[in-house]
Amino acid sequence: MKKILVTGAAGFIAFHLIKRLLDEGNFVIGIDNFYTGTNGNIEPFLKNDNFKFVEHNVIEPYFFDVDEIYNLACPASPPHYQKDPIFTFKTCILGALNALELAKKTGAKMLQTSTSEVYGNATVCPQDEKYFGNVNPNGIRACYDEGKRASETLICDYNRVYNLNAKIARIFNTYGENMDINDGRVVSNFIVQALKGQDITIYGDGNQSRSFCYVEDLVEGLILFMNSNFNGPLNLGNPCEFTVNDFAKYIIKLTSSSSKCIYLPLPQDDPYKRKPDISLAKEKIGFNPKYSIEDGLQRTIDYFKEKCSCKK
Ligand code: UDP
Repeated sequence: MKKILVTGAAGFIAFHLIKRLLDEGNFVIGIDNFYTGTNGNIEPFLKNDNFKFVEHNVIEPYFFDVDEIYNLACPASPPHYQKDPIFTFKTCILGALNALELAKKTGAKMLQTSTSEVYGNATVCPQDEKYFGNVNPNGIRACYDEGKRASETLICDYNRVYNLNAKIARIFNTYGENMDINDGRVVSNFIVQALKGQDITIYGDGNQSRSFCYVEDLVEGLILFMNSNFNGPLNLGNPCEFTVNDFAKYIIKLTSSSSKCIYLPLPQDDPYKRKPDISLAKEKIGFNPKYSIEDGLQRTIDYFKEKCSCKK
């Protein structure tokens, strides 16, 4: 039985990760400060003797004697990470630093959840790990983009200086059950708007693209990566690309909704094209997303139908 620490335990990806780790017979310690995470995401595990939850902010140091650390703690949706940008920046950097210090003290393997945002408004598509990115260091997304980039720097330097085993996963847009209704991201916004018959809010002209990965595929990738002897950086996502316009139409179709699209201003520095090149993940860890977008979205829609009590 491994002892595994998951930071950001009350978040949506952590919910699926912790479920898998417990099902596989591990002991899991979860920490979170509930900045964006919710009690509902840890509640199902609280009666499990192999799960322990500690309310803690990763900006402050902590100690747990563990074999593995998954560092997930950070607000990740644009409206959430922009609400208190200085806190976001600190969470990225001090959160990574404190996880690395723990890895150094305990000898634990560590996996840092970085992001496709390190590529910024990419000038190449798809984005592979060799691309250094195109990030505005002064814009409203920089607290997250540059925070995550700096955390990658810390990880590489800790690996070089202290010979650690710390990994960098660059997570692309991920969706699934247990996303927060008020998360503010395109998948949850469009599904909830469609289910409620509200206007679908498209930012800009809707020609920008994103590629969507179902959360269980992503979690499979995180675990394969942790168990591998490769440290990355490694893209994890699904190259299934949609323009925002086409994504809105697809959600309307899947939900049989009568909602109409409205067009709102595009937020500053919103990346124009995002699609992961996952050849390296296939080669190094055998990552191969298996859920089709239709299956993944159908599960997510069913979840939100329950949540919104707006079954049709
Ligand atoms: N978006 C949108 N309407 C919404 C929410 C998001 O058109 O209600 C757009 C957003 O401008 C971006 C894309 O959808 O181009 C993905 O946004 P999201 O916040 O999900 O994640 P991002 O990839 O930008 O971090």
